[in-house]
Amino acid sequence: MQQDTKNIRQIPIVAIRGSVVFPHTDVVLSFGRKKSISAVNTAFQEDRIVGIFSQKEAKISDPGSEDLFRVGTIATISQMMSTEGEVHAVVKGQARIKLLDIVSQEPYLTGRVVELQQEKGDAADITALANKMQELFKKAINLGKQAEIMTVMKLVSGKVEPHELVDAVASLLEIKTKKKQLLLEELSLKKRLEKVLHYLAHEVNVLELEKTISSKTQKRFEDQMRKAMLREKKRTIEEELGEGEDGDLSTEELGEYKVKIKNADMPKDVREKADKELKRLSQLSPHNPEGGYIRNYLDWLCDMPWGKESPNNVSIAKARKVLENDHFGLKKAKERILEYLAVMKLKSETDKTKKGKAESSKEKSSLSSPTILCFMGPPGVGKTSIGKSIAKALGREFIRMSLGGIRDEAEIRGHRRTYVGALPGRIIQGIKNAGTRNPVFMLDEIDKLGVDFRGDPSSALLEALDPEQNREFSDHYLEVPFDLSRVMFICTGNVLENIPHALRDRMEIISFPGYTQDEKFNIAKKFLWPKQLSVHGMQNKNIKITDKTLNEIINRYTREAGVRNLERNLAMVCRKLAILFAEKKKTPLAINHSDVSKFLGPQRFSSQIAEKKDEVGMSTGLAVTSAGGEILFIEVALMPGKGKLTLTGQLGDVMKESARAAFTWAKAHWFELGLKENFGSRIDVHIHVPEGAVPKDGPSAGVAMATALVSALTGIPTKRDVGMTGEVTLRGRVLEIGGVKEKVIAGHRAGLKMIILPKDNKKDMEDVPEKVQNDIKFVFASRLEEVLSLALKKWPPVEVKQGIRSLRPTFLSAS
Ligand code: ADP
Repeated sequence: MQQDTKNIRQIPIVAIRGSVVFPHTDVVLSFGRKKSISAVNTAFQEDRIVGIFSQKEAKISDPGSEDLFRVGTIATISQMMSTEGEVHAVVKGQARIKLLDIVSQEPYLTGRVVELQQEKGDAADITALANKMQELFKKAINLGKQAEIMTVMKLVSGKVEPHELVDAVASLLEIKTKKKQLLLEELSLKKRLEKVLHYLAHEVNVLELEKTISSKTQKRFEDQMRKAMLREKKRTIEEELGEGEDGDLSTEELGEYKVKIKNADMPKDVREKADKELKRLSQLSPHNPEGGYIRNYLDWLCDMPWGKESPNNVSIAKARKVLENDHFGLKKAKERILEYLAVMKLKSETDKTKKGKAESSKEKSSLSSPTILCFMGPPGVGKTSIGKSIAKALGREFIRMSLGGIRDEAEIRGHRRTYVGALPGRIIQGIKNAGTRNPVFMLDEIDKLGVDFRGDPSSALLEALDPEQNREFSDHYLEVPFDLSRVMFICTGNVLENIPHALRDRMEIISFPGYTQDEKFNIAKKFLWPKQLSVHGMQNKNIKITDKTLNEIINRYTREAGVRNLERNLAMVCRKLAILFAEKKKTPLAINHSDVSKFLGPQRFSSQIAEKKDEVGMSTGLAVTSAGGEILFIEVALMPGKGKLTLTGQLGDVMKESARAAFTWAKAHWFELGLKENFGSRIDVHIHVPEGAVPKDGPSAGVAMATALVSALTGIPTKRDVGMTGEVTLRGRVLEIGGVKEKVIAGHRAGLKMIILPKDNKKDMEDVPEKVQNDIKFVFASRLEEVLSLALKKWPPVEVKQGIRSLRPTFLSAS
């Protein structure tokens, strides 16, 4: 390193961090440190000369002589600007200098410096290297290297001296400060050129690599776009031409679908639809999610039993035998079902001859049902099992589906395919599960269909069930019509009133009113016990159950219209027996009366009537709920008040009105009842119907409420074993009511000795089982007074002399 000792100068020194200023370059520097600002200001006011040195460690804030690199740049300040707390200066690097020493520290650093001379080297080498550098620099700029446009223009113009060029390029390199400092310290021009070339070449390489990466990504993206566009174009052209080739679908899968479609025995229009969908699938890209939906749809189309059906061989004799063998009693229901089957058979034969005449084709005859059957009755009365027997008798598949709680039309008719996760409705699902197009299809809980904003499921259901409309049942998902006319639909429900009207009109209602004690006994003995033994694997153990045991279970362990709990209790007995067998313990040969509590625990029900006393203000009514017929105890309490009537026990509006009518009747007949004229305005009445959890409605408890009320008012007890039902009017007339059979069976079950019915219900007695008619005394009344005279222990309450009051009931005057 040469140094010109004659030219030692004393100048202000500024320390900079994180960069190096090269000679022959213009840079803008910002200064914030007090000493630097002071040095720059002084220099600017004097000869504008400063020495710029880089700090060895950027974090030192007040550097001394030792903290600076020895080699720096002497620069002139061409412009200056102050902002708040900072000074910005445009400085131009002039030459390399060496810091000899610091002569003063305050107010800024002043140092003695000497200019360094550079070693020139061979001119030809230098020119060659400089040309090379210029080229490389151009390349770097073309690849996107950032630099000021004026600098670039100057450097690539070819008019710059090599030593200027090398410093300017060095200042633009993207290298660390330490490396830049080394370049500044390099006094041999040739070596400097070589080093800078080396760094520049490396930078060009990196820039080239970046460019290829981004252009590759770009190309890949463009390729995909191009392919997608072409595919779309291809599809549009093919659609226009009405042709298409098999696309990405594997030929194997395509073949499988073709076979499936061929074997599905579809009607012509369905076949066309399936072919169209398959074509669409074959043209889709394998990544298109729609492919999954189409496959699903095609599977549904192929799996539907379009042409598959069980043979139509209705033999009434066989059906009768099956129904008789499987069920005890239910005479009326069985008869009605046989009639229905007979009509179905006749209709199918007529259809067959009609078709035969029209075309002697091999088309199968249609076996359509005349109307829709609907089995109504409480749970456990054999509705489902009769349905199964019908399917057995006809040799058809049986399928069962509950409609309880369905509020959405789409549950019946399916969701459109545009929905994510769309499926066909329950009807089509059921048919697919059945696997034939003519199953016996049981729809349970039809009385529990709901209606809300999602549409009315009952109208969709009607379209499916109505033989007039269901030949072309359209499911939203399937999109093609399915012929439901061969399906035999049977609906079941508990409460007739809750079935939507439109549906009720189209249905043939067969009612299952519940069983009497005797019927239950026979069902249990002949069917349930043998069935449970075989279900529990003890069919050949031949264990008997005594009659007394059965009656005990029926009376003390169940209280129901059907036999479901009875069956459950028998199942429990069987399970206990099974344990005894499994543990090889001593097992009884017959289940005796004394074993019952051992197997089933303590009795669960007491007799409803036997333990009750004749009481004042209480009567026994009869009602029908969704669990079948029931007896109701109606209670009345009186208290001083102002004529208010309170009603509790989840009563419906109609029932409340009947209570009001009864109260009014009593007030109007104060005289006959032996009461004070205005008694009604001095008392409050509370009528309660226990078992509050069960909603009750209907007018038929009118007479029972009136009886309890009169009993409370007069203080005459009612007879505990007399049950009554009937609507009562203001004038005391007793009007006809429904559900007689269910009610009297419940009364019989509860142990009533007498039942009072409205006169107009006499006709319903023919439905009442003979045993019930024999066990209970039936009385038919047309007026409330007749009911009172039978239900109260004493009647009339007071001796009434003739002619005293014009409103007096006529039959009283006769007595
Ligand atoms: P539901 O459908 O009316 O609720 P189920 O058909 O499920 O009633 O009947 C419950 C059980 O009682 C079944 O095991 C059934 O076989 C039996 N059952 C009901 N009624 C009879 C009957 N009359 N004869 C023989 N078994 C019967």
